[in-house]
Amino acid sequence: MRKGLCGNCAFVREIVTPKGSRFLLCQLSQKDAAYPKYPRQPVILCQGYRPKNESAEEILPPELLP
Ligand code: SF4
Repeated sequence: MRKGLCGNCAFVREIVTPKGSRFLLCQLSQKDAAYPKYPRQPVILCQGYRPKNESAEEILPPELLP
């Protein structure tokens, strides 16, 4: 998969189909229609981007916490 912001974003969830295809799901899309559910890759600019090393509790709304 090509490099981009999503691969290192706290809001991404990787989806792997039974056939082995991989998609990056943007969890911000569940709260904000401005973000596509499956962003076209690579995303190189995104206002929603947050690095994965920030804790989920700091950045995710409670309904998206695991
Ligand atoms: S917020 Fe932006 S960078 Fe993060 S997963 Fe969604 S589209 Fe990708």
